[in-house]
Amino acid sequence: MTIMFKKQRPGPPDAETGHQRVRITDLDAGYPGRPVLRQLTADIRALTMTALVGPNGSGKSTLLGVLAGVIDATSGQLRYAEGRPPAFIPQRGAVGDALPLTALQTVEMGRWGERGLWRRLTRQDRAVVDSAMERLGVADLAARQLGELSGGQRQRVLIAQGLAQQSDLLLLDEPTTGLDPEARERITVLLADLVADGTTVVQATHDLEAARAADTCLLLSDGRLAGQGPPEQVLTVTALSRIWQPA
Ligand code: ADP
Repeated sequence: MTIMFKKQRPGPPDAETGHQRVRITDLDAGYPGRPVLRQLTADIRALTMTALVGPNGSGKSTLLGVLAGVIDATSGQLRYAEGRPPAFIPQRGAVGDALPLTALQTVEMGRWGERGLWRRLTRQDRAVVDSAMERLGVADLAARQLGELSGGQRQRVLIAQGLAQQSDLLLLDEPTTGLDPEARERITVLLADLVADGTTVVQATHDLEAARAADTCLLLSDGRLAGQGPPEQVLTVTALSRIWQPA
């Protein structure tokens, strides 16, 4: 058994992973006393959008946490193709509204991994932060408190923080959930643009519209993979009704 998720050193392309950005094999993971993911085998293709779909509690966030390296696998393998460590964008709700942070400070935190907590940001860091904020259309919100932004604005600030990490693998937890249709659409288009520009995007979602815009869906049911493939093949009425049983 080899668990490789902490090894992110650049190196020659991995012949075994090929066009897969991440290859997940027989993965088990969860929390102390609470196994969640069981025997999960799936591929995250490079330069595509993958949606993790499934009911609440099916293990979407847990899988993102494992991909991000913040939750340890208990067994199985994760193999990453060459690239930078992933950027993890947690749920908006997980980012305290009460935190006295401006939008700019929030995006600057994306440079901490590179710079360390206490070192001043360099001119180059600032350029990266500015360009991420421009890209997400939040440059004019720089001085505003995170807590006073709309859900859609806050989500774009958090994605800008992810971009500021300059990773080619973005992991997002429910980026469109709870947003109005216009804000949802904007995020979906932005993420598709990032993919077109060379980023691999994985998003956990129970927004079926967002899932339909993905290249590949991984359908999770009770910690197991119930389907993998293009949305039109995976998100069938039969598959969804089997999984979303009325309580
Ligand atoms: P989803 O993202 O699909 O809603 P999660 O991955 O958040 O699912 O949760 C999967 C299961 O793991 C759920 O039963 C949930 O209660 C449990 N769980 C999530 N986080 C924790 C935690 N920190 N400690 C223990 N159990 C957890």
